[in-house]
Amino acid sequence: MNNKAAGVQSIREALARHNEEDEDEEDKVTDDDDDDEEPRACGVCGDLAKGYHFNALTCEGCKGFFRRAIKRSTQLRCPFLNKCSITKNNRRSCQACRFRKCQAIGMRKEMVMSEKEVLERRTRIKKKKLLNAPVQLSSQQEETIQELLCGHRGTFDSAFYRFSGFRPMDRNILPGSEFASEPSYASSLSSSSSLSSSSSSSLCGAFENQESQEGEQVRKGGVFTALPHVADLTTYMIQDIISFSKSLQDFRSLNMGDQISLLKGATFEIMQVRFNMVFNAKRGTWECGHFTYCIDDAVRAGFQPLLLEPLFKFHHTLRNLGLQDEEYVLMQAMSLFSPDRPGVQQHAVIDKLHENLALTLKTWIDCKRTGPEKHLLYPKMLACLTELRTMNEEYSKQVLQIQDIDPDVIPPLIMEMVSKSPFDDL
Ligand SMILES: [Zn+2]
Ligand SMILES: [Zn+2]
Repeated sequence: MNNKAAGVQSIREALARHNEEDEDEEDKVTDDDDDDEEPRACGVCGDLAKGYHFNALTCEGCKGFFRRAIKRSTQLRCPFLNKCSITKNNRRSCQACRFRKCQAIGMRKEMVMSEKEVLERRTRIKKKKLLNAPVQLSSQQEETIQELLCGHRGTFDSAFYRFSGFRPMDRNILPGSEFASEPSYASSLSSSSSLSSSSSSSLCGAFENQESQEGEQVRKGGVFTALPHVADLTTYMIQDIISFSKSLQDFRSLNMGDQISLLKGATFEIMQVRFNMVFNAKRGTWECGHFTYCIDDAVRAGFQPLLLEPLFKFHHTLRNLGLQDEEYVLMQAMSLFSPDRPGVQQHAVIDKLHENLALTLKTWIDCKRTGPEKHLLYPKMLACLTELRTMNEEYSKQVLQIQDIDPDVIPPLIMEMVSKSPFDDL
């Protein structure tokens, strides 16, 4: 006897289980480990036995017979004397004696699984296969990421080289000069009373010392001093985001109305994701080439703590996730392809695109990320997207308020983005 045969007693159970996995695919050869062994005979009928079934060495025919007999509720009866001898050729002639022989050689009915158990087992096996399969980005997903990266890099000027011709910032930062900010703004922001009256102020920390003035002095002049520059910066960002969207095949394939609806819905969010890529969390500033912005610039442009406070927190939270470019662009795309924006017609198409992007992001993280915090990254990114949505509404509201107070400063493109009505062309 060779080693394989000698080990049969101990692996019998395992083998029996193995065979049951395939029990209702009876036509298949379920066991191929006997090719170099002596042919073995079925304990019931003497036919060629391929392996152990329900605890005994049997042929495929007797395996199926036993399983069907167990599942059948009717009593089997021998028309003769209950002692028919069962052979390969006559095994069909007496079911009762064949069944008796099955039991006599040790076939166990408790090893036959019910339909439910079979299903459960199937599910378990499938799950196990999924879990064990190495996670890999599909070529489609790789392409998606490449297209997004390419589109992003072609339309995001992270050094802000093309940044010229803007109306000047009130604090008159000269190109090339270093702007030092103090990271103390967050506290003054939460006291919610830090609107500036000074048009020459250049330090965030300076606002801490100011009394609550509710912006009266700023409004007296009818001017939010940083607004012209911030409005131009925003227009510049919006134009780039439109170009980014237009660079994507999936976006171009949508009808014009939906393209507009998606852009109107997502521009603020994508803008913030892009600004986050240049956010310095230590200093609380946005480093845009030779310009460095702090949150006070937004205050002097007329924005209120109800937006700026969560926005500042958002930038810290997102920056601290340490995202890679691939993750940043997928976030932008997920925001862009949101099926539930007002006015969207091709809901199902956009929903599918969004789902694919979400799956790509999840797979990307599974493949490329390591470390214990890996599993939390995806839900944290989703939470950031949700947070952006909330701020999106507040942003639109505040832009409209600023426009009321300080008309003629905000360019039409921004007004179109925040308005509820559709606009005509891009
Ligand atoms: Zn047999
Ligand atoms: Zn019989």
